[in-house]
Amino acid sequence: MPEKTASSIDIFDLLSEADSPDVAKKKRRQELLKPTGVKELFKEGSISVNKYTCAGVQCKLCVKACPTNALYWAAGEVGVIEDLCVYCGACVLNCMVDDCIKVERKREDGVEERFSKPNDVIKLAEKLNAKKRSERVKAVFPTAEDYRERYAKNTDTKNADRT
Ligand code: SF4
Ligand code: SF4
Repeated sequence: MPEKTASSIDIFDLLSEADSPDVAKKKRRQELLKPTGVKELFKEGSISVNKYTCAGVQCKLCVKACPTNALYWAAGEVGVIEDLCVYCGACVLNCMVDDCIKVERKREDGVEERFSKPNDVIKLAEKLNAKKRSERVKAVFPTAEDYRERYAKNTDTKNADRT
């Protein structure tokens, strides 16, 4: 293969080798998040804090709740370091003002979620737990028939032991 000279460098090679803004952002986030030990569970997301409805410096519950220190109090308002936010929702869960913090996130399966009230976060967590429970049951009993068979066997054995 001929060696590349300055005049033969292919610009498309260079572009494909260089990190795209998205890849660079992902790398930067991974580096920043590594020391926190917090995993990124969402493909993408965004967060905003409404400084007009925020209860102010005497509150800071969101700042205390954030597992990655993405939130800080400065210049009379809550600031966000977006690169550190994993869109977990702990700040929304702890915020005393509904719709003050808004989080949008995209799950690995492509489903988009939006929430801005503690109740929204609780409902989402319950939904996720219910889905995980159902997946675990499905792994053991792929069909309802499998479940009935196993259950019926256990009931029969118990009844036989009693007689
Ligand atoms: S969603 Fe809120 S609590 Fe969670 S990482 Fe982002 S700023 Fe911190
Ligand atoms: S928890 Fe809500 S009200 Fe309290 S400081 Fe944070 S954004 Fe403001």
